Amino acid sequence: MPSCSLFGGDLRGGSLLQAEGPDTGKTVRNPPIQCVLLRFLLRLCACLPAKCRENRGDITMVTRRIMHVDLDAFFVSVEQVDHPELKGKPVVVGGRPDARGVVAAASYEARALGVHSAMPLRTAARLCPQCIFVEGNFARYSETSRKFMAILAEFTPFIEPMGLDEAYLDVTGFESLHGTIRQMGYSIKKMVRSELGINASVGIANSKVVAKIASDASKPDGLIEVAPGGEAAFLAPLPIRRMPGIGEKTEPVFKRLGIVTIGTLSQMPAESLKKLLGNHGEHLRNMALGIDDSPVQAREEAKSMSRETTFGEDVHDRQVLEATLRYLSERVGAGLRRNGRFARCVTLKLRYSDFVTITRNCTLQQMTDADGVIFDAGLKLLRTALLKEKKAVRLVGIGVTGFSESGRQLSLLDDTTLRLEKLDKAVDRIRGKYGFGAIQTGRTMKLKELFEENERGYNLHTPGLSR
Ligand SMILES: [Mg+2]
Repeated sequence: MPSCSLFGGDLRGGSLLQAEGPDTGKTVRNPPIQCVLLRFLLRLCACLPAKCRENRGDITMVTRRIMHVDLDAFFVSVEQVDHPELKGKPVVVGGRPDARGVVAAASYEARALGVHSAMPLRTAARLCPQCIFVEGNFARYSETSRKFMAILAEFTPFIEPMGLDEAYLDVTGFESLHGTIRQMGYSIKKMVRSELGINASVGIANSKVVAKIASDASKPDGLIEVAPGGEAAFLAPLPIRRMPGIGEKTEPVFKRLGIVTIGTLSQMPAESLKKLLGNHGEHLRNMALGIDDSPVQAREEAKSMSRETTFGEDVHDRQVLEATLRYLSERVGAGLRRNGRFARCVTLKLRYSDFVTITRNCTLQQMTDADGVIFDAGLKLLRTALLKEKKAVRLVGIGVTGFSESGRQLSLLDDTTLRLEKLDKAVDRIRGKYGFGAIQTGRTMKLKELFEENERGYNLHTPGLSR
């Protein structure tokens, strides 16, 4: 499982990394009491097989059933729900075709024309001039993701979210509740479709790795169940690219060795694979045989929160950098307050015109959720960095870590901090009612010259959606 770092660009480790963009901060639906009762019963029933396993101390006595649910072309699907005229068209989410960011998601129609995620937007525009490019709306994706996870929670409490649009579910012993696990998979697909308007693909197997490969293989809008004992046979004919962890770089290495399918990989002598790839070789071989005991683990609370943006053109102007940093600090601060969190560490991220990227951090004397305190810390780090390096800046970001919900000694807080925090909350209320532009600091006014505004804030270039 990938580890998460601040600015890691990946939500898997529980980071609240958000590309800059509008944010509603709204959460989930409120389940009716029947749902709460049903969920309680499900949890009770679901605990039984797990308990049995523990008591027997023999995990092999129970055949695990793991389900992997993955929303199809997630960002694009949300856009198509909001803008039905995009349905059936080649759509690219991530920014304008002349922007410098990368493709965050492509519709199946765009994929057929050679466009894929992480491809530079300009390359996508060249390959597919007829593609429709949309900026993306991260707040909508987060909101839809929360609803998706809430739907899954109605089926099992054992959920391991992977990013915004996929999750592993441990559904061992759930047959009696849903008829069969396959029927449960179809019920999930149906509920996701009717409540979110999006297709989900489902894989069911005895392990996470096989369930994931099965859901990938079933796309779009499919369901594949691999019967216990049938894992190796299911995997054997599939291209090795289907294996998690084998990507653009490693695939050619295997191909040079004549390993094209997962089946040939599984037949490689363990020693040769170990020689070639160390312990990872053995792990890959086990996965190729469908052997994977890793448990479904509920995700930990987010440990970091950050905002960053790439400029349309590299920036030398210190005022612009500071104004952007101020704006990003305000978005981070608003995120903290919305989540009732306080942070102790502030991290600045800079990417220069030559793509060299640095991060600098500092620890605050007191935990805070105040925009001003976060910005001041970030500004000090920025000024120190700019003194040392004169290159133009391509990307700037600010993040916070070291969270607590109530880890502060109020008696140690000075008047200024308390006043700042009170002011932030008042500003949040006004912005919540009248839009971000209703109140701006002198510093962020500078951004009016550079970016368009909408009711939720500045429309920064190349929002660099994390997934
Ligand atoms: Mg997906």
